[in-house]
Amino acid sequence: MVTVNPEFVMEAQRNAPFRECINQAVLVVADGMGIVWATRFVGNPTPERVTGTDALPEVARRCAAKGYRLYLLGAAPGVAEAAAARLQEIAPGLQIAGTYAGSPAPVEEDEIIERIRAASADIVCVAYGAPAQELWIYRNLARLPVAVAIGVGGAFDFLSG
Ligand code: UDP
Repeated sequence: MVTVNPEFVMEAQRNAPFRECINQAVLVVADGMGIVWATRFVGNPTPERVTGTDALPEVARRCAAKGYRLYLLGAAPGVAEAAAARLQEIAPGLQIAGTYAGSPAPVEEDEIIERIRAASADIVCVAYGAPAQELWIYRNLARLPVAVAIGVGGAFDFLSG
Protein backbone atom coordinates (compact mmCIF):
# COMPACT_ATOMS: atom_id res chain seq x y z
CA MET A 1 0.00 0.00 0.00
CA VAL A 2 1.31 3.45 -0.96
CA THR A 3 0.05 6.81 0.39
CA VAL A 4 0.69 9.29 -2.42
CA ASN A 5 1.15 12.99 -1.68
CA PRO A 6 2.14 15.76 -4.13
CA GLU A 7 5.86 15.25 -3.38
CA PHE A 8 5.48 11.61 -4.48
CA VAL A 9 4.06 12.77 -7.81
CA MET A 10 6.95 15.18 -8.35
CA GLU A 11 9.56 12.57 -7.31
CA ALA A 12 7.94 9.86 -9.48
CA GLN A 13 8.38 12.02 -12.57
CA ARG A 14 12.17 11.87 -12.31
CA ASN A 15 12.63 8.62 -10.33
CA ALA A 16 11.60 5.65 -12.50
CA PRO A 17 12.01 2.95 -9.80
CA PHE A 18 9.81 5.00 -7.43
CA ARG A 19 7.23 5.45 -10.19
CA GLU A 20 7.28 1.67 -10.66
CA CYS A 21 6.66 1.13 -6.91
CA ILE A 22 3.56 3.32 -7.00
CA ASN A 23 2.21 1.83 -10.21
CA GLN A 24 2.71 -1.74 -8.98
CA ALA A 25 1.07 -1.16 -5.59
CA VAL A 26 -2.17 -3.04 -4.93
CA LEU A 27 -3.65 -0.09 -3.02
CA VAL A 28 -2.77 3.57 -3.63
CA VAL A 29 -4.48 6.21 -1.48
CA ALA A 30 -4.48 10.01 -1.69
CA ASP A 31 -2.35 11.54 1.07
CA GLY A 32 -3.63 15.11 0.93
CA MET A 33 -6.36 17.18 -0.67
CA GLY A 34 -4.09 18.14 -3.57
CA ILE A 35 -4.12 14.55 -4.76
CA VAL A 36 -7.89 14.18 -4.14
CA TRP A 37 -8.41 17.32 -6.23
CA ALA A 38 -6.09 16.04 -8.97
CA THR A 39 -8.00 12.73 -9.23
CA ARG A 40 -11.20 14.74 -9.78
CA PHE A 41 -9.47 16.90 -12.34
CA VAL A 42 -8.38 13.87 -14.40
CA GLY A 43 -11.88 12.33 -14.18
CA ASN A 44 -11.02 9.36 -11.94
CA PRO A 45 -12.02 10.69 -8.51
CA THR A 46 -10.89 9.07 -5.30
CA PRO A 47 -13.47 9.39 -2.49
CA GLU A 48 -11.31 10.84 0.28
CA ARG A 49 -7.93 11.72 1.71
CA VAL A 50 -6.13 8.93 3.60
CA THR A 51 -2.73 9.64 5.15
CA GLY A 52 -0.40 7.04 6.64
CA THR A 53 -1.17 8.56 10.03
CA ASP A 54 -4.93 8.12 9.40
CA ALA A 55 -4.50 4.59 8.08
CA LEU A 56 -2.34 3.17 10.85
CA PRO A 57 -4.97 3.25 13.67
CA GLU A 58 -7.51 1.73 11.25
CA VAL A 59 -5.05 -1.00 10.27
CA ALA A 60 -4.38 -1.60 13.98
CA ARG A 61 -8.11 -1.93 14.76
CA ARG A 62 -8.54 -4.39 11.89
CA CYS A 63 -5.49 -6.36 13.03
CA ALA A 64 -6.87 -6.53 16.58
CA ALA A 65 -10.26 -7.74 15.32
CA LYS A 66 -8.75 -10.37 13.02
CA GLY A 67 -5.79 -11.45 15.15
CA TYR A 68 -3.22 -10.26 12.60
CA ARG A 69 0.24 -9.48 13.96
CA LEU A 70 1.66 -6.03 13.18
CA TYR A 71 5.38 -5.22 12.85
CA LEU A 72 6.58 -1.61 13.10
CA LEU A 73 9.84 -0.97 11.25
CA GLY A 74 11.75 2.33 11.17
CA ALA A 75 11.85 5.76 12.86
CA ALA A 76 14.40 6.70 15.53
CA PRO A 77 15.21 4.11 18.22
CA GLY A 78 12.39 3.91 20.78
CA VAL A 79 9.79 5.65 18.61
CA ALA A 80 8.26 2.47 17.11
CA GLU A 81 7.94 1.01 20.63
CA ALA A 82 6.09 4.14 21.82
CA ALA A 83 3.87 4.08 18.71
CA ALA A 84 3.13 0.39 19.37
CA ALA A 85 2.01 1.18 22.93
CA ARG A 86 -0.26 3.95 21.62
CA LEU A 87 -1.73 1.64 18.96
CA GLN A 88 -2.50 -0.94 21.64
CA GLU A 89 -4.49 1.74 23.50
CA ILE A 90 -6.34 2.65 20.30
CA ALA A 91 -6.88 -1.01 19.35
CA PRO A 92 -7.17 -3.15 22.49
CA GLY A 93 -5.96 -6.70 21.94
CA LEU A 94 -3.63 -5.68 19.10
CA GLN A 95 -0.70 -8.08 18.80
CA ILE A 96 2.56 -6.28 18.04
CA ALA A 97 4.80 -8.86 16.39
CA GLY A 98 7.84 -6.64 16.84
CA THR A 99 9.44 -3.24 16.47
CA TYR A 100 12.84 -2.29 15.10
CA ALA A 101 14.42 0.99 14.00
CA GLY A 102 17.13 -0.36 11.71
CA SER A 103 17.83 1.68 8.59
CA PRO A 104 16.86 1.52 4.91
CA ALA A 105 20.49 0.72 3.95
CA PRO A 106 20.55 -2.38 1.69
CA VAL A 107 23.29 -3.91 3.87
CA GLU A 108 20.76 -4.27 6.72
CA GLU A 109 18.03 -5.90 4.65
CA ASP A 110 18.86 -9.54 5.34
CA GLU A 111 18.84 -8.99 9.08
CA ILE A 112 15.59 -7.01 8.99
CA ILE A 113 13.81 -9.63 6.86
CA GLU A 114 14.98 -12.30 9.31
CA ARG A 115 13.65 -10.30 12.27
CA ILE A 116 10.24 -9.93 10.61
CA ARG A 117 10.19 -13.63 9.71
CA ALA A 118 11.16 -14.69 13.26
CA ALA A 119 8.39 -12.46 14.67
CA SER A 120 5.70 -14.18 12.52
CA ALA A 121 4.31 -10.82 11.41
CA ASP A 122 1.31 -10.57 9.06
CA ILE A 123 1.58 -6.85 8.23
CA VAL A 124 4.62 -4.57 8.29
CA CYS A 125 4.50 -0.77 8.48
CA VAL A 126 7.72 0.87 7.29
CA ALA A 127 8.69 4.37 8.50
CA TYR A 128 11.81 5.32 6.54
CA GLY A 129 10.32 8.37 4.78
CA ALA A 130 9.53 8.57 1.07
CA PRO A 131 10.83 7.42 -1.32
CA ALA A 132 13.18 5.22 0.77
CA GLN A 133 10.39 3.24 2.45
CA GLU A 134 8.53 2.49 -0.80
CA LEU A 135 11.78 1.46 -2.53
CA TRP A 136 12.68 -0.70 0.49
CA ILE A 137 9.32 -2.50 0.35
CA TYR A 138 9.47 -2.93 -3.42
CA ARG A 139 13.03 -4.33 -3.36
CA ASN A 140 12.12 -6.84 -0.68
CA LEU A 141 8.54 -7.66 -1.62
CA ALA A 142 9.20 -11.16 -2.97
CA ARG A 143 10.94 -12.30 0.20
CA LEU A 144 9.02 -10.29 2.77
CA PRO A 145 7.19 -12.87 4.92
CA VAL A 146 4.03 -10.72 5.29
CA ALA A 147 0.73 -10.29 3.43
CA VAL A 148 0.72 -6.48 3.51
CA ALA A 149 3.46 -3.84 3.61
CA ILE A 150 2.72 -0.12 4.04
CA GLY A 151 5.00 2.91 3.92
CA VAL A 152 3.81 5.20 6.73
CA GLY A 153 6.31 8.11 6.74
CA GLY A 154 6.21 10.06 9.99
CA ALA A 155 3.22 8.15 11.45
CA PHE A 156 5.21 6.55 14.30
CA ASP A 157 6.54 9.97 15.34
CA PHE A 158 3.02 11.39 15.23
CA LEU A 159 1.48 8.53 17.23
CA SER A 160 4.23 8.55 19.84
CA GLY A 161 3.77 12.30 20.31
N1 UDP B 1 13.64 7.55 9.05
C1 UDP B 1 14.40 6.48 9.48
N2 UDP B 1 15.58 6.21 8.86
C2 UDP B 1 16.02 6.95 7.82
C3 UDP B 1 15.24 8.05 7.38
C4 UDP B 1 14.04 8.32 8.01
O1 UDP B 1 13.99 5.76 10.39
O2 UDP B 1 17.10 6.66 7.30
C5 UDP B 1 12.35 7.82 9.71
C6 UDP B 1 12.28 9.11 10.49
O3 UDP B 1 12.80 8.91 11.80
C7 UDP B 1 10.77 9.38 10.52
C8 UDP B 1 10.32 8.80 9.17
O4 UDP B 1 11.36 7.95 8.72
O5 UDP B 1 10.15 8.65 11.55
C9 UDP B 1 10.11 9.82 8.07
O6 UDP B 1 9.25 10.76 8.49
P1 UDP B 1 8.89 11.98 7.52
O7 UDP B 1 7.81 12.72 8.20
O8 UDP B 1 10.12 12.69 7.09
O9 UDP B 1 8.37 11.19 6.25
P2 UDP B 1 7.33 11.61 5.17
O10 UDP B 1 5.99 11.39 5.84
O11 UDP B 1 7.64 13.03 4.83
O12 UDP B 1 7.61 10.63 4.08
